[in-house]
Amino acid sequence: MPIATTNPATGETLKTYDPMSAEQVDAAIERADVAYRQLRGTTIDQRGRWLNAAADLLQAERDEIARLMTTEMGKTYASAGAEVTKCATACRFYAAKAADFLADEPADAGAVKATRAFVRYQPIGPVLAVMPWNFPLWQVLRFAAPALMAGNTGLLKHASNVPQTALLLEDLFRRAGFPEGAFTALLVGSAEVDRVLSDPRVRAATLTGSEGAGRSIAQIAGRELKKTVLELGGSDPFVVMPSADLDRAAEVATTARCQNNGQSCIAAKRFIVHADVFDAFAEAFAARMSALRVGDPMDPDTDVGPLASEGGRDEIHAQVRDAVDKGATVLCGGEPPAGPGWYYPPTVVTDLRPEMRMWSEEVFGPVAGLWRVSSYDEAIEVANGTSFGLGSNAWTRDPEEQERFATDLDAGNVFINGMTTSYPQLPFGGVKNSGYGRELSALGMREFCNTKTVWVGEGAASAGAGAHAE
Ligand code: NAP
Repeated sequence: MPIATTNPATGETLKTYDPMSAEQVDAAIERADVAYRQLRGTTIDQRGRWLNAAADLLQAERDEIARLMTTEMGKTYASAGAEVTKCATACRFYAAKAADFLADEPADAGAVKATRAFVRYQPIGPVLAVMPWNFPLWQVLRFAAPALMAGNTGLLKHASNVPQTALLLEDLFRRAGFPEGAFTALLVGSAEVDRVLSDPRVRAATLTGSEGAGRSIAQIAGRELKKTVLELGGSDPFVVMPSADLDRAAEVATTARCQNNGQSCIAAKRFIVHADVFDAFAEAFAARMSALRVGDPMDPDTDVGPLASEGGRDEIHAQVRDAVDKGATVLCGGEPPAGPGWYYPPTVVTDLRPEMRMWSEEVFGPVAGLWRVSSYDEAIEVANGTSFGLGSNAWTRDPEEQERFATDLDAGNVFINGMTTSYPQLPFGGVKNSGYGRELSALGMREFCNTKTVWVGEGAASAGAGAHAE
């Protein structure tokens, strides 16, 4: 895949880049290693000042950054602006919370026959981040902010269709004050990931992307014995039970499916509705989906912009055609419009069967599958009957059912009477083929720390676990 900016609204290639040579990549890894030695000697306060400066730059340059994201991958300008703001908030969150998250944790010294014992969190070194295009700023920031605050450095292999956003991120951290080499964009194709991750100076990797990319990186990391965090695909269930507020559920379902032009890992993708309310929900949902305005992502009145690539648009249409050819019913949408740009209309498909691709595959665009179930148990069976386990949603006003959903849904998160989203305060990640490890919260910061046990016997100084420089 060429490294290029191609505007999905027009199909026009605006800028191309030559991939970095092996020598350039090697030099970038060396700079990241040198910067790590420098960064780990700085204080949390210092790193917090740099991260807050990055947040200031994001806020000051919000409109310009949003325009670039819209041009590179087609998200609406309004949602791109919101993404920039969310990134600034996450930077400030980690700048403020790192001292707590990285503080030494005292243990019961007597129980382990020590005079003092504690756990210390320390950085590990350069981390490779392989990232997707769908939230080109947020996916990177939610790794970079905690990693840099912990004293690690980052090597970003961004998706090949968002090179300008990748370079912008490198520039952002440099201008914010982080040492040269602390965060570097590697303009390389995915074939180079093996060489970078095999380099002994690179200590770990995080990937947000598809299941295929996850398997490939996990294999390399297994061979090299390196830590990985994998945030992969999802086919999130959105269960609607008879006691649900149907109007609100239909409204949120529409946003949950079509946010980011339908290209979100945590978009609700499979709508599983109790038979008692199926017809009413299906009608309200299809009406709302049909009413969404599809068009120019720069237009403030647009709800749904183009898909990020022609291949992505063709893939979801093939999934819809496969279902229809095997007997599914289209309630709305289902035909891409003629003309330039990779647009696809919000679509609802029902009467799905296991032999259809939409039954088991992730659909990465504004296409919803609708299932009818006749009981709580059947809802859980369909919801969990997938190889994925990223997010999940349940709509019910019955407190007992809410408790049961919280326990029974086999996913990294459960959102009840609301749509799945990510917050810096809450851990984010999946189970099954949606990956492993967690981003965000204290857990995300500690994924790339050495959780070091310190045990001190006779002759210890009287002080217990205390603050440390990193
Ligand atoms: P993708 O093809 O896996 O690409 C993601 C990144 O991985 C890109 O930088 C890509 O580089 C690289 N890559 C692809 N194949 C690779 C391989 N074999 N070895 C090493 N690197 C490889 O994913 P996508 O289609 O762009 O993004 C959509 C997928 O990401 C969906 O499945 C979505 O659910 C998932 N996603 C998950 C999360 C989460 O938090 N769990 C968040 C967002 C998206 P190139 O661009 O150069 O190919």
